[in-house]
Amino acid sequence: MNNLSSGNIKAMNTMAINAYCDQLIEITSLNQLMALTIPEQPVYILGEGSNTLFVDSKTPTLIRPNIIGVKVSETNTHFHLNVGAGENWHQLVQYTVANNMFGLENLALIPGSVGAAPVQNIGAYGVEFANFCHSVEWFDFETSEQLELPVAQCQFSYRDSIFKQALKGKGVITSVNLSLPKKWQPVLTYAGLNELNDTATAEQVMNKVIDIRNSKLPDPKQLANVGSFFKNPVVTQSVFNKLQAQYPDIPFYSQGEDQIKLAAGWLIDQAGLKGYRQGDAAVHQKQALVLVNFGGATGQDIAALAELVVETVAKKFAVTLEPEVRIVGEHGERLLIKSESQCLNQ
Ligand SMILES: Cc1cc2nc3c(=O)[nH]c(=O)nc-3n(C[C@H](O)[C@H](O)[C@H](O)COP(=O)(O)OP(=O)(O)OC[C@H]3O[C@@H](n4cnc5c(N)ncnc54)[C@H](O)[C@@H]3O)c2cc1C
Repeated sequence: MNNLSSGNIKAMNTMAINAYCDQLIEITSLNQLMALTIPEQPVYILGEGSNTLFVDSKTPTLIRPNIIGVKVSETNTHFHLNVGAGENWHQLVQYTVANNMFGLENLALIPGSVGAAPVQNIGAYGVEFANFCHSVEWFDFETSEQLELPVAQCQFSYRDSIFKQALKGKGVITSVNLSLPKKWQPVLTYAGLNELNDTATAEQVMNKVIDIRNSKLPDPKQLANVGSFFKNPVVTQSVFNKLQAQYPDIPFYSQGEDQIKLAAGWLIDQAGLKGYRQGDAAVHQKQALVLVNFGGATGQDIAALAELVVETVAKKFAVTLEPEVRIVGEHGERLLIKSESQCLNQ
């Protein structure tokens, strides 16, 4: 039997939004998934809710994949890990480092479940989930079959994957297969980490990442938030040239031919919104990319603030910010601004 319940999901989302769920289906095994009749009404798959903003007082039916377990095998060159979707990502990073399996240390302290990691191809400090992914095991609601998608089929890119696109809502990631090379070198290219030298151990890198993150990002347990609310926008070279002529200090990262990534936090800060507060919804005082809930904000309050941020940045820079966070209403996932139809960035 699936574990069925209902109730308030405030403790199940790191933005601490009060919303009511009529049907919460907890899945702890593949057999349960096979026996599951997918409800007709909208369904949302919820991990630990650290990248989800519930905007209505009710949620759709929620499916929580809580399949746990870590299996490790090795060859001469690699460690191979099969990790259940319900495991916690940071605990996995700690486990690998403690057991001399290196590579994930730059991704320490990213909140959330292992099953959600491929969805937006989590990344931090120069490393992405895709760098260590061998394949993703995914249960197809339509055929009731489990498929193994090799990394090349997952369409990983910056905060994106096939699970956010063509396969969105069509199934559940049940486990991930990671491949960690035994030959290891620290990735120290990012600001803060470059204070370490090349002889740094994976544990030192992990601890440094944890220190930097703790100093920059609010802990959702102290101040509710969902991390970076917006993606860093990518613009064409000609759009960038005009912006740089007007704002010579604008930070940018070249992404190859005709693609320039801008820093969303800088744009929000320059638009005068860092620390801006509307009731209990606010732009964080230190990190403008993070929206926070001081306690009493509803999902609509946060969404209204996010819309204001998008509009203000668009007015000043003619650049459209897109949420990194999944926006979920009573009837399922939706856009932040319902009437959003055009993208200014081209
Ligand atoms: C303080 C803070 C810092 C953060 N820093 C980073 C960072 O540095 N880098 C980064 O990339 N992200 C970061 N995030 C965002 C977040 O941690 C990641 O997106 C994480 O992977 C979300 O995991 P979750 O289980 O909470 O996902 P949820 O919010 O529950 O779900 C996110 C998405 O994944 C889908 N999903 C979840 N589980 C499954 C499954 N088993 N099968 C199919 N779909 C599934 C959901 O439907 C939804 O679309 C941060 C968040 C916070 C609060």
